[in-house]
Amino acid sequence: MNICKKTAYSTKEFADDDIKRFQKKNRINKPTKSYLCQRCNMWHITSNNSVLFEKIDKLEKENYKLKIDIKQKSNFAINNKIQILKIKHQKQIDNYKQKLNHEKFKNLKLLQELNNIKNKQSL
Ligand SMILES: [Zn+2]
Repeated sequence: MNICKKTAYSTKEFADDDIKRFQKKNRINKPTKSYLCQRCNMWHITSNNSVLFEKIDKLEKENYKLKIDIKQKSNFAINNKIQILKIKHQKQIDNYKQKLNHEKFKNLKLLQELNNIKNKQSL
């Protein structure tokens, strides 16, 4: 039972014969070389294209990883900006609240003074 999904040949000659057969066919991905498989110890055939496909696949996977990295990093930067904005806004809110309290206090004092004057007048 062969553990590889690829077509397996018992000898290099059989594999090379099949390469010749494929060369005559009108296919985009023509096999060009045979190799002894390390896993199943049988011969497989492969094309230069499939080597390229594997390289492209590897690069695309790396690119995807980078994209995620960049996304996470820029998210971090954006989160930082949002955090800074939040702090700024909170400071402004606190300032306004303080001013409001101050105004309330001033008004309260004025009211007290006014009451004092009224009391004095009524005496
Ligand atoms: Zn194999």
